[in-house]
Amino acid sequence: MTDRYIPIIDQRKASSSAEVAQLIQQGKLTVNDKVVDRLSRPFRDLRISVTDRCNFRCSYCMPKSVFDRDYAYLPQKDLLRFEEITTIAAAATRLGVKKIRITGGEPLLRKNLEVLIAQLSELRTTHGEPLDLTLTTNASLLKRKAQSLKDAGLKRLTISLDAMDDAIFRQMNDMDFPVSDVLQGIDTALAVGFEDIKVNMVVKRGTNESQIVPMAAHFRGSGVALRFIEYMDVGASNGWRMDEVLPSSEVLALLQTRWKLKALPAKSVGETAKRYGYLNDRGDLDPNLGEVGFISSVTQAFCGDCNRARLSTDGRLFSCLFATDGANIRDLVRDASTEDIDTLAHHLAHLWQGRSDQYSALRQAGVLPAGNAKQRIEMSYIGG
Ligand code: SAM
Ligand code: SF4
Ligand code: SF4
Repeated sequence: MTDRYIPIIDQRKASSSAEVAQLIQQGKLTVNDKVVDRLSRPFRDLRISVTDRCNFRCSYCMPKSVFDRDYAYLPQKDLLRFEEITTIAAAATRLGVKKIRITGGEPLLRKNLEVLIAQLSELRTTHGEPLDLTLTTNASLLKRKAQSLKDAGLKRLTISLDAMDDAIFRQMNDMDFPVSDVLQGIDTALAVGFEDIKVNMVVKRGTNESQIVPMAAHFRGSGVALRFIEYMDVGASNGWRMDEVLPSSEVLALLQTRWKLKALPAKSVGETAKRYGYLNDRGDLDPNLGEVGFISSVTQAFCGDCNRARLSTDGRLFSCLFATDGANIRDLVRDASTEDIDTLAHHLAHLWQGRSDQYSALRQAGVLPAGNAKQRIEMSYIGG
């Protein structure tokens, strides 16, 4: 029988609820954008998974052997409703969150997603500015949805594409989905006015490294920024092996055999990608040629300024991509005594202040807790 990996039930809610109520009463818990975790990192980025389902079966994320017909996806009643997501997001903005990424599973499978986007686009940062609202998608439904997403207030898009070669891509998504449909999705998104589009390519040694140069050649000068992602040991079902990770340094070296590239300064603290711009024949950075980025979670951990948390489809808050449990926020937002934005914000502040995650940095230093790999939750559930 195939192993089943189920989210670990979090037990912290009961004690922390009483504790937080007491701290609020005593005026000992502050809510503002100065709140930091135990490693002095602020909370700036919230990723929200709106479904644990997907129409692809990428082997590095939802392999068919595990995510088969019998897989126990979350029942509808367990999913956070849009109003609940927006209330939690509003509470997070009180702590300084200014970026929200909608993800999944495949987020465009969630019915009426535009309604949620419209709600989130009404939120403001502590400085009164609109949020940086973005969405990650496999683009299978993008051609149909790009216009309505834009109309609803979505600002940016990240699209996953692992190969230009149709056979390799069909094999990687394992649902025989063609590259041409993803490219049409990107074209439609550009046509309806999305100006900031990124393409994520997960690079797996032995699977799609032959696609690094063709992908870069396709997107160079197209107005779309390509980012290479190191294959990560996320979740517990992809059978991750270090020898299948192609370090970003090797990807960069390969690109440099063909083009001249120059490192670009980070745009903001906590940025996950190291960016490089293309130089023209005169040796000058040429913005028209665009840029590439490298997300090197395995070989160059960036936990030091990680300001992200993830809200799972069923409302658990995970303070690290590699966490084994999450705090049950759904119960709080469904309870009349804790459902208001202010109380929720205090709960989030309490959770954030207790955060000390730095999984990738520890793994890089060779000091991971034993047994963690078998318990980690899946990326499709927690959101990428
Ligand atoms: N289904 C959407 C998609 O693929 O864009 C959104 C969810 S997916 C989990 C988010 C991102 O995580 C994708 O860009 C995907 O390539 C990346 N991802 C999933 N599993 C990964 C792994 N093991 N290593 C690195 N990136 C991974
Ligand atoms: Fe689906 Fe995205 Fe995971 Fe691929 S990476 S299986 S498209 S959730
Ligand atoms: Fe952040 Fe955890 Fe990733 Fe480190 S491993 S960057 S703490 S999500």
